[in-house]
Formats: sequence, structure tokens, C-alpha cells
Amino acid sequence: MVVKGRGYVENPPVPYDRYWLELDLDPGLREEWEAFCRTRQIYVDRSREVVHRVSSPDLGIVYALNPYQGCEHGCVYCYARVYHQYWGWSVGLDFEQKIVVKPDAPRLVKRFLLRQREKVPIHMGTATDCYQPVERFFRLTRRLLEVFLTFRYPVRLITKNALICRDVDLLGELARWGLVEVLITVTTLDEGVRRVLEPRTASVRQRLEAIRVLSGRGVPVGVMVAPVVPGLTDWEIPRILEAAYRAGARRAYYTVLRVPPALEGLFTRWAEEHFPGRARRILKLVRACHGGGLSDSRWHVRFRGTGAYARMIERLFTVSWRRLVGGEGLESRAG
Ligand code: SF4
Repeated sequence: MVVKGRGYVENPPVPYDRYWLELDLDPGLREEWEAFCRTRQIYVDRSREVVHRVSSPDLGIVYALNPYQGCEHGCVYCYARVYHQYWGWSVGLDFEQKIVVKPDAPRLVKRFLLRQREKVPIHMGTATDCYQPVERFFRLTRRLLEVFLTFRYPVRLITKNALICRDVDLLGELARWGLVEVLITVTTLDEGVRRVLEPRTASVRQRLEAIRVLSGRGVPVGVMVAPVVPGLTDWEIPRILEAAYRAGARRAYYTVLRVPPALEGLFTRWAEEHFPGRARRILKLVRACHGGGLSDSRWHVRFRGTGAYARMIERLFTVSWRRLVGGEGLESRAG
């Protein structure tokens, strides 16, 4: 292979660098990996802990685990973009192109589980997507599922990527032991909107197919309609819930879009560029849901918003889901 304008086409390992990673890839995947690395930078995090206790009182989770930081999916509203600044990187393209991997995660999780007395579920994908494209090469999420299965320990996953179907064998086995739940995020059924809102995620069709595949193997699956973008996707709520329910989702959740202060300028420009006729209304309605700002960081209201428009979304969501599940009493809530 030749790379135009370069002498060599590969980087041999640096013997003194503990952050150097040599991946053991199939020959078929190696070429893809090399192409992948030409447009992204991969960084290695050698932290000694990867499971974190969650302090937010309105998330309802105790432990979170994210084997990657940064996310190539590139969702414009992603609040995890803000955390990329702690590395000295931008919330914009850097977040999508500088990906931090934690190759020690399976070993560290094993160590964590050996110390655990109670089986409190660990949530994966809460900050960044654990099935984002780099997972194809590192397989950290798959190796973590193997650890959870070995320890018979409960895990919850949320993703927008159909790559999760690759691990249906492990997820099915975890489900047999009652140890897993999966949430697939579906924000819109409109591929045109999906492509600009969440550019490198799986298509709508692939996500619904993922719900079908997983539920078909006995994995409890829910749909996460998050975030609902007021003035853009809110009217789709009944259709999204129906499509997800028909595919096999038996739980449903939503959040209302909030735009962190660090993303306000980017998001406003994005809305004006992609939805010039609707941008003002979208921004006005987001503000209406958050007391006049584009976000409201107060616990317990930040996800569902406040005011008449937020209440309308809540009602639309609840009524639509109830109509589908009838008296089954299946769960639907904000957050
Ligand atoms: S998939 Fe999740 S983590 Fe990735 S960019 Fe989108 S919202 Fe952020």
C-alpha cells in the first residue's frame, strides 16, 4: 500500500511508551483500522479505576462505566462534549475525532467486581456510546460483557449503534440469568433529520432492527426517546413509540433537549444552517421548556423541563405509550 506524500505507511511501536497500543486485528480489519486512524486520533487512558459512582440524584443509577471518551457519533446536542474540554480539547470536532480508549477496562472491572458485596447494576453508555465505531477494533464492550457474564453481575447498556447486535450471544446469555437490560435510543424516524442531528449513528431502520434482534433473543429492551427536540421531533413521539413497541421495546423513556452553555453557539448555528425556517421556533421552544434558557441544570427538572410545552410533551409521551401497552403497566418516564 502507498500513502501519497508519505515515506512509510505504518508506525512501528515505540518501546518506551506505556501509552502505545498494539492491536491484534484480523488482516481484514487491519486495513480498515489504518484508514480509520488517518482521520481520527486515538488516545490511551491508563486510569486505575473505570467504574464510577454516580452522584446525580435524578439519574437513578449507582455505577457508570464508559470504556471510551469522546464519541464519533457526533450528536450535536451531546452533553458529553463538555467533558472533552477537561482534556484541553474542543467541544466541536475534537469530541468526534479525538477518542480516548481505556484498554485496561476489562481487567479493572474484574478487580472491581471481586470487591463488590452487592450486585448493584453497572450502567454502560451513560456518558459516551460504548458501541461507537472504535469498538469494532478494540472490542472493549464485548470483553466487558464477558466479564459480567463470568461474575454473573448485572449490567445495563444504552446505545445508538446497531453494532450491539454483534454481541447478541452474550446479551442473550446474560438475559437468561436476568442480568441485562438494553436501551436503544431513537430520537426521530426521519432519516434526513437523523443524519444531521446524529450523523454517524446507526440509521433509524438499523436501530429498530436492533430492538427486534435483541428482544427476539429474550433481551429486555426499551426505547429511549432522548432528546426530544421541541419544534423538530416532538410531533414524532407517537410514531417513534409505536415503531419501537412493534419492534419489541417494552419500556420507554424520554428527555427534553437541553443545550449546555458550552454548546449554545454551536447549536444555534447548527439549527440556523440545517433548519433555517424552523431554527427560531426550535430555540424558542427549548427556552420555553427550561425557564427562558437553553438549559436548566437543576436536579429533577433538567431532563423533562418545566412549563406548558414541557407538560404537553410529557402528556403526549405518556398517553401514546399507554395506548400501546394498554393495561400491561409497562414503564414510561422522563430521564
Ligand atoms: S451517541 Fe451518545 S455519547 Fe455519542 S455523540 Fe451521541 S449522545 Fe454523545
